[in-house]
Amino acid sequence: MGILDRVLKTGEGKRLRALQGLVPEINALEPTYQAMSDDELKHQTVLFRERLEAGEDLDDIMLDAFAVCREAATRVLGQRHFDVQLMGGAALHFGWVAEMKTGEGKTLTSTLPLYLNGLSGKGTHIITVNEYLATFQSEWMGRLFTWLGLSVGLIVPGNRDADHKREQYAADITYGINNEFGFDYLRDNMAMSRERQVQRGFNYAIVDEVDSILIDEARTPLIISGRLEDAAKLYTQFAAVVRALRRDEHYEVDEEKRLVVPTEEGIEKVEQALGVENLYDGVAQNLVHQFQVALRAKELFHRDKDYIVVDGEVKIVDEFTGRVLDGRRWSEGLHQAVEAKEGVPIKEENQTLATITLQNYFRMYDKLAGMTGTAVTEAAELAGTYGLQVVPIPTNKPLIRADEGDLIYKTLDGKLQAVADDVEARYKSGQPVLVGTASVATSELVSRTLDKRGVKHQVLNAKPERQFREADIVAQAGRLNTVTVATNMAGRGVDILLGGNPELLAKQELHNDGLDAEDPEHAELLAKTIAKYEPQCQAEGAKVLELGGLYVLGTERHDSRRIDDQLRGRAGRQGDPGESRFYLSLEDDLMRLFATGAVNWVMGKALPDDVPLEAKMVTKAIERAQQTVEQRNAEIRKNVLKYDEVLNNQRKVIYELRDQILDKTDLRTKIHEKYLPEAVESLVATYCVADFSEEWDLEGLVAAVGEYWPSEVTVDQLAALSTSDDVYEVLVDEAISRYEAREAELGDDTMRQVERQVMLRIIDTAWREHLREMDYLQEGINLRAMGQRDPLTEWQREGFEMFEAMIARIERDLVRYVMHVQVKAPGESDQPQQPAAPAVGMRFQTSDQKAPAAPLPDDEPAVSNMQTSGPADPSSQAGGLSTLARTRAQVEGAPEQVDEAAAASHTPVVKSDWDKTPRNAPCPCGSGKKFKLCHGQA
Ligand code: ADP
Repeated sequence: MGILDRVLKTGEGKRLRALQGLVPEINALEPTYQAMSDDELKHQTVLFRERLEAGEDLDDIMLDAFAVCREAATRVLGQRHFDVQLMGGAALHFGWVAEMKTGEGKTLTSTLPLYLNGLSGKGTHIITVNEYLATFQSEWMGRLFTWLGLSVGLIVPGNRDADHKREQYAADITYGINNEFGFDYLRDNMAMSRERQVQRGFNYAIVDEVDSILIDEARTPLIISGRLEDAAKLYTQFAAVVRALRRDEHYEVDEEKRLVVPTEEGIEKVEQALGVENLYDGVAQNLVHQFQVALRAKELFHRDKDYIVVDGEVKIVDEFTGRVLDGRRWSEGLHQAVEAKEGVPIKEENQTLATITLQNYFRMYDKLAGMTGTAVTEAAELAGTYGLQVVPIPTNKPLIRADEGDLIYKTLDGKLQAVADDVEARYKSGQPVLVGTASVATSELVSRTLDKRGVKHQVLNAKPERQFREADIVAQAGRLNTVTVATNMAGRGVDILLGGNPELLAKQELHNDGLDAEDPEHAELLAKTIAKYEPQCQAEGAKVLELGGLYVLGTERHDSRRIDDQLRGRAGRQGDPGESRFYLSLEDDLMRLFATGAVNWVMGKALPDDVPLEAKMVTKAIERAQQTVEQRNAEIRKNVLKYDEVLNNQRKVIYELRDQILDKTDLRTKIHEKYLPEAVESLVATYCVADFSEEWDLEGLVAAVGEYWPSEVTVDQLAALSTSDDVYEVLVDEAISRYEAREAELGDDTMRQVERQVMLRIIDTAWREHLREMDYLQEGINLRAMGQRDPLTEWQREGFEMFEAMIARIERDLVRYVMHVQVKAPGESDQPQQPAAPAVGMRFQTSDQKAPAAPLPDDEPAVSNMQTSGPADPSSQAGGLSTLARTRAQVEGAPEQVDEAAAASHTPVVKSDWDKTPRNAPCPCGSGKKFKLCHGQA
């Protein structure tokens, strides 16, 4: 029986015991591999691969591969996997979520399944939360893998070169960050040929901090977008109008549901101000939307909490990490509305070219596993939505951190003073303190209060610190007399060592001396410097232990218990002592909004500001409040997923279609047997509807046919026929012979290539347009919820109809273009060869028309030579579109000329612009230093 079967046989709830059962078996293999020379040990990789090739599967070699990996790690990294890490590694191999507390060594744990699965050569992805960690871990753990004979790649933003990217994906093991994997997927599906694609399938992924990616970021899709026409004026106008409106009179705000609803009076006022008759007119759809985002910007998005304004730019602050999401923008015009509200320049509107949510990206993997310090609270959702089982792995050493009860103050100020008292006392004793805040604003408040007391401290919030700087500071947060104020989880994934981290201290010293610590030239110096710091850190660490370890102080509770647990988890790593406590006030958002009963009860009591309250009732109320919010968020996420499912299925269909064409599917049969006849059928159905042939609109029909191909059929000829079937026959016959004539004229190969290139173009344009229509649809759907219809059903139904219509349009457009396309040999004049079809001038440039053996390069250059100018309005017969969609559909006709260069260089919405800074230019952080010496360090 295979290992997995054995483990699964033990059944639900007994997984842990099953994992434990594997440990002695792996341990038993240890002496064998210990006895081997380095070369012998390395050779095991070759032997494993042979066994796999001979038909064994990964489970068969798992125990041995784990033992080999452990022995190699001991030799190469100086770290031997703990037994609990073997258990975590096995869980990851089985595709589960391993819950391992902070400091338990998830990085090293993941090497076991990575090595094992990497042996298959099918590609194994390990996804971390930030670029710093991905780079760092790929280098560090990479030493182990290369030693064992596996190749390692790295996927981070920056180098977009396709060859480089492909090489990274071709590696046995690829480290990287989630967004970049997702963007590569989207970009691959915009590529004009297979050669330009970089990914190679979705075999196995381990997602680090899986809860944050699958739960917290569930509502953030990745979007690749291009610019739309300037809509800035309208935003400014609305911002001004909305500024003059009054809450409760012109609109009502429901903070809890995050809704702003205008009143009749409000709407009237806006209509007056804009000089329009009816804001809710179908045509004026956009105005309603503009109005809504302006109101939401005004009431629900707060400066220094949800966003900050730096150098005339509105930057989003991540609600969970408190970190600035550089380059990310709110969608659907909200960002522009906030820019207008703040009076900063408004960035042009972006059109979505491609989009996917991270979850849907990760759901494509054949095997998906995750690790995190905190998942149990979300286990049900992970199982329900992703089929991921959470297994809590025991800690290596018992956890002895003391988690104290919450202290609750009446006022915010009372709380702040108490926080400062506590921090000051610890600071004086030397004990390191990590203060966690939920927002930038609070971290600044705390910082100011500490300043007044003369408590030296570091602040880590949304200021544009680069991740490695952040990591640097967090890594040192365990030193004596160190106070670190950080928004939740700043420097995530970085382990706080008591007494300090010698490696980072050494790197800092080199850096201060103007040396590049990563330069192999300085490896020796680095090692020496690390050795110098090691005893110092150890001695300091011993003192910190005596003082009780790291003290974690939370200044408010987050909506989600999991985020609070993450903060607490910073202390008490690997059996260290540690302590944690949360300070709350009745003025905190969570209390104000969700624990109103308890708040009122306390308010009724005469309680001085500076006396904390430790009432069970309040503590319980907070817990309930958190649960309420958690449930509501889970509900929202479920709903988002349901909505997203529609688009996700459509995307799959479109991408599959694209793939077929990239794989050189022959479109001839399809055109012959389906597209052509169907196009004719729809024409006949449109123009020959009446029972009597005398009533048919034959002139209209002939004109419409002329848009599809240069037809010689005349009205008189058709008028002589008695049934619409006859008309259909005549037209199909002509269409087919016309098609075959084109084929003969161009030659088979050229014709096939033309068809494929044209089809790709049409699909891409139609899909983009469809995405936009779906955006509008979703907006309209929300309004319909008021009309007592189920928005989700409406969305599914109309989304489906629109998709069908789009597919029909794609097929018709293909016919139209293929019948008109002209392939031009070099030196020929630009005049269309077919004067009979002046409306459609589509030229196709090929290197040599007469030599199909060296035909069109099936990629970009050929494509960018393709010029199109479609018939006036080919979509006028599209039919079947919803009302909402129709207004949009008119805009789009034949594929417009796509500027491929622009499309390739469009900025993904999530992206740090800093990467583009030249190394010798001043650093964008404003430090005055050169970029390479400041935030641009390797
Ligand atoms: P996590 O991500 O689980 O919080 P890390 O992967 O950052 O933990 O590891 C925490 C620290 O423990 C790192 O400094 C790492 O080098 C160290 N570590 C992990 N496993 C071992 C081990 N088996 N032996 C020695 N040190 C280890």
